[in-house]
Amino acid sequence: MKRWNFPQSQAVARSSRISQASRFQHRITDMRRRRIYEGKAKVLFEGPEPGTLVQYFKDDATAFNNQKKGIITGKGVLNNRISEYLMTRLAEVGIPTHFVRRLNMREQLVREVEIIPIEVVVRNVAAGTIAKRFGIEEGTPLPRSIVEYYLKNDELGDPLVTEEHITAFGWAATQDLDDMLQLALRINDFLNGLFLGVGLRLVDFKLEFGRLWEDEQMRIVLADEISPDSCRLWDRETDEKLDKDRFRRDLGSVEEAYQEVARRLGVLPEAGPVDIKGPKLMQ
Ligand code: C5P
Repeated sequence: MKRWNFPQSQAVARSSRISQASRFQHRITDMRRRRIYEGKAKVLFEGPEPGTLVQYFKDDATAFNNQKKGIITGKGVLNNRISEYLMTRLAEVGIPTHFVRRLNMREQLVREVEIIPIEVVVRNVAAGTIAKRFGIEEGTPLPRSIVEYYLKNDELGDPLVTEEHITAFGWAATQDLDDMLQLALRINDFLNGLFLGVGLRLVDFKLEFGRLWEDEQMRIVLADEISPDSCRLWDRETDEKLDKDRFRRDLGSVEEAYQEVARRLGVLPEAGPVDIKGPKLMQ
């Protein structure tokens, strides 16, 4: 596989320049480096060293399995920072993650992993699909944290699956699934406390895991992102929604909600919204 060969410092400098770019410039960089994968909210590019990737955060938002599409201005910049912050805190308490470091406004360097095609959802409070499926009023605390698995498959609309399905169809081994469950519960414990500390209730969230090989050894690590795109976060006092539900449900003030989460976590770019939208074009 062809890789970038120039030293990392150059790669970082190059990426920083890219960060100052507009969408148009992003398209130019696409032509220069190899795109590995494009998802709804992120693009993965070949990284500067073997075994690494550059994860680029877009402003694009989708909901209801791609039926609703939009742009949340500055979301990519904020999610890059929020996910960096959360992954770094999680690594400090011993959760293995794919995150290496943030490169610039919209990009982070990550370890290349083989993504397990299962979305792990942890729920503390009834909301979204669990509320609908079982007719529970949104906001009802669950008797205990509930972990669910969904198959990552857009064509099928990410169906809910059981451990039996996962192991029988070979999407993950029993040991992988066990590791994922243990990690998901530890992550939930830690994030619950972290968010409560900044006045937010972690209602539910989605995680993705990957297989990372090191010297013939494989371990399961946290991958993808953790951000208001993948979590439900409600203000602890008012229950105000500060997450992607504002976009899904047309509640307005979507950008402001993402900014508020970043602000509470202490990672809002200093110049605020100006910084988020990128530099003004010089005449
Ligand atoms: O829609 P549902 O209630 O099942 O979502 C549970 C949690 O998982 C929510 O925090 C939602 O943002 C997240 N999720 C996600 N990506 C999906 C499905 C759900 O991030 N494809």
